[in-house]
Amino acid sequence: MLQIPCPWCGPRDETEYHYGGQAHVPYPEDPGELNDQEWAEYLFFRDNPKGPRAERWMHGAGCRRWFNALRDTATYEVLAVYRPDAPRPAVHPSREHAGASR
Ligand SMILES: [Zn+2]
Repeated sequence: MLQIPCPWCGPRDETEYHYGGQAHVPYPEDPGELNDQEWAEYLFFRDNPKGPRAERWMHGAGCRRWFNALRDTATYEVLAVYRPDAPRPAVHPSREHAGASR
């Protein structure tokens, strides 16, 4: 079973967490100015890399706090966890796979 380290509680089974989608998707500065295509892209279009991906997770069976995790989508390995107000940690270039971003 996948173990995910909560930044506050430490390593726990993945069943204690809820997935929250891609991290670092900023809310539009002026949503009223978006056309339908731009609004749809904000709501539904997300990166789908083969390799490290920043994701939001919530520790529902523990502290119930949200945090970000850098997870390799090819191996499921959790490379780093960090608090939502922290920047995305750097990843060693060897961890990036070809075609990792759109
Ligand atoms: Zn926790």
